[in-house]
Amino acid sequence: MTETFRFAPSPNGLLHLGHACSALLNAARARETGGRFLLRIEDIDVARCRPEFEAAIYADLAWLGLTWETPVRRQSEHFPEYRAALQTLEALGVLYPAFESRAEIARLVADRDAAAAREAAAPWPRDPDGAPLYPGTAKHMPAAERAARIAAGAPHVLRLDLAAALAVLGPRGKDLCWEERGAGPAGETGTIAARPEVWGDVVVARKDVPASYHLAVVVDDAAQGVTEVVRGRDLFAATSIHRVLQALLGLPAPVYRHHGLILDADGHKLSKSTGATALRALRAAGQTPADIRRLIEPSTVSAHP
Ligand code: GLU
Repeated sequence: MTETFRFAPSPNGLLHLGHACSALLNAARARETGGRFLLRIEDIDVARCRPEFEAAIYADLAWLGLTWETPVRRQSEHFPEYRAALQTLEALGVLYPAFESRAEIARLVADRDAAAAREAAAPWPRDPDGAPLYPGTAKHMPAAERAARIAAGAPHVLRLDLAAALAVLGPRGKDLCWEERGAGPAGETGTIAARPEVWGDVVVARKDVPASYHLAVVVDDAAQGVTEVVRGRDLFAATSIHRVLQALLGLPAPVYRHHGLILDADGHKLSKSTGATALRALRAAGQTPADIRRLIEPSTVSAHP
């Protein structure tokens, strides 16, 4: 099998040093293995993604000296595939619509935290990204009320009923794991046991889009025949959810190589708004692609064979 790698940025801002690190590592792995290097544009977030950022991705990667196969897969052109995956999940009985807005969820969590504080109990649990686990009641909503709300056009997301998903998977669900060739935040490497329970019932389809990041990424990695996912360590924990979705959808599991993150001077992860580390800003300041490779070197070492 041809080893296949992908770099999968979202065009909602300019690429920074962290993206350069992922892109260069993927390309290096493809070179070392005689494999393929693919680029995927993760643009399901129609409100935040912009054509000028997509154009900047191509220009910045070319400036770094990278070449990739064309045509590039753009997620916004594959909604029917995500809908088909949702239908499979629906048929397995592992989805439910949830109607709360973000503001309502924030209120519910604030109430639960306040109750926990009164009882000197632990606050409502947060997921590895720091967001509260879904606290709502939609999972237990009577079927008639659910149907009536949907018929009335109430906006809703689709959530994965994790308990139902693990029941469908049976013993396979308990044994879900992945091969980690890089490392997690605590240095985890080798065979990693999935811990999807730390995420609760994640969103698999947004209000306005028939997918979420988690669903699109597993459908696309399978559709593109990706054999090794090379990406930042901030996505290590999300792999647990990806393994559950792969198992439910009957998709193959790639191996994973999570690499170190490039941090700013204060030790924070770079974000798209961190202007100074945008590749364009560095280029305008006179840095060369060779300088960029030197700047990202420390983060790539731990993830490189
Ligand atoms: N689109 C994601 C990002 O820009 C990366 C997804 C992945 O590599 O799985 O952070």
